[in-house]
Amino acid sequence: MPRSTVAHVDLDALRSNYRKACTLAGSANVMAVVKADGYGHGIREVASALAGETPKFAVACIEEARAIRDTGLSQPVVLLQGIHTASDIGECAANGFEPVLHSDQQLAWLERARSAPAFWLKVNSGMNRLGFFPENLSDVVGRLSRLEAFSRFSGFVTHFACADDPQSPMTAQQTERFKQATLPWPGAMRSVGNSAAHFLPGQELFDWSRPGIMLYGGSPMLGRTGLELGLKPVMSLEAPLITTRTVRAGDSVGYGAGWVATRDTVMGMVAIGYGDGYPRHAGTGTPAAVNGRRIQLIGRVSMDMLAVDLTNAPEAKVGDRVELWGNTVGVDEVALCAGTISYELLTGITARVPRAYRSRSEA
Ligand SMILES: *Cc1c(COP(=O)(O)O)cnc(C)c1O
Repeated sequence: MPRSTVAHVDLDALRSNYRKACTLAGSANVMAVVKADGYGHGIREVASALAGETPKFAVACIEEARAIRDTGLSQPVVLLQGIHTASDIGECAANGFEPVLHSDQQLAWLERARSAPAFWLKVNSGMNRLGFFPENLSDVVGRLSRLEAFSRFSGFVTHFACADDPQSPMTAQQTERFKQATLPWPGAMRSVGNSAAHFLPGQELFDWSRPGIMLYGGSPMLGRTGLELGLKPVMSLEAPLITTRTVRAGDSVGYGAGWVATRDTVMGMVAIGYGDGYPRHAGTGTPAAVNGRRIQLIGRVSMDMLAVDLTNAPEAKVGDRVELWGNTVGVDEVALCAGTISYELLTGITARVPRAYRSRSEA
């Protein structure tokens, strides 16, 4: 029997979450962020499923943009991290890739290019990773405005540091700084807004928002799950029970012998581990589900398997499918137990786990 550990991907849920982002974005256009292999769901399938919905895609790097083109899709693709070599400029121009330029080096490449792509400028409004400082923006735009390439200038981009926390004053500060900095160029488009910004009441999203995690059903907000935010889970990670047994009171299970049964306990072994991308930091008590009932992990996650307490699901038998996250157990809950965020869990599923796509409506 083949190992049936699998990540089911519900493309209808993906499309539904995209439409929710559009509703929340109001008058802003919405570019679908599909970087990191579509947040672990498969960039080709995710982009194809959203092709009838989104006017633009966004990715981190040019390799990801190529994957979208190789799939035969024609939407513009924004490169959020810009470009890494001079020759990327020509490739962007020829293929409808729109780099977000954030450094003097990238400007120099644009100045020397024979054909220029549509491009954006990154403004550092306080995240302090990438971008031009507001006070330098008129020099930068002045320098570019002498170029023929300037006719392809799309607009300005900035990124929020604390949008996941509605209590943080930082998002409003960044918004104001960005707004002031870009005021002299009313004809340029403006893009702010990761997923979290869609859930901040009254937040301005200008011309283009850029949701990522919410498309996949993960929560962008501190302390809230995707389900609580009305998002649909897209990935259901499943693996079969490969054995069940009773551990006697006093016996331990797994590496380090850290979990010891305090009473006779029905337990099962599930065919998934950190070699599949399931987080090793998910400890005893992390939720999972079998036959619609919630159960809990016990002991340490191994590379290829993990143990669960079947007290709540005594009928569970070998071959039954355990949901590690999905519709019964939210990926955000597992992330919390593993001391991380859903982004890391979803993007961390390894190549050993096949993705199986479901869609009622054809993409
Ligand atoms: C990844 C990324 C996004 C999407 O962020 P989410 O939190 O996943 O919605 C938006 N903008 C930029 C610049 C990004 O790098």
